[in-house]
Amino acid sequence: MIYAHCHCRAIILEISAQPRFLKECGCKTCRPYGAIWAHYRPQEVRFIQTPGASNSYPLGDGTIMIRHCKICGCTIDLESGGEMRQSWVAVNARLFEPDDIVGLPVKTPTLSCHAESASF
Ligand SMILES: [Zn+2]
Ligand SMILES: [Zn+2]
Repeated sequence: MIYAHCHCRAIILEISAQPRFLKECGCKTCRPYGAIWAHYRPQEVRFIQTPGASNSYPLGDGTIMIRHCKICGCTIDLESGGEMRQSWVAVNARLFEPDDIVGLPVKTPTLSCHAESASF
C-alpha cells in the first residue's frame, strides 16, 4: 500500500500498489501543472478528504477533470469524465514519497497524452 497526501493533508490517497510506470507529460495540457502521473484504475485509489477540500477543473472539452486541493493548492489527480467516465485515474506522483517511486520507468510524451492514458 502506498500513502500520499497533499501539502496540508486535507486530501490523503491510499493506493493499492506501485504504478508500472510514471508519465512526465509534456503536452500542452499537463505541462503547466508540473505533475508526474501514475495511472490506476479508479478502484485502486482511495481518496480520503476533508469535505469540500478539493476543486475540480475541466480540461479542454470536459472529458478530463483535474483536481486540486483548495487549501494548499497541490495538484491531486486527473480523472476521466464524459463517455470515458471513471475508466482511469492519473494520480500526481509528486505527492508520493520518493522511495515509493524510485527507479520506475518514466515516459515523456509531448503530444496529447490522455487518449493514450486510457490504455495502461
Ligand atoms: Zn492540501
Ligand atoms: Zn498530458
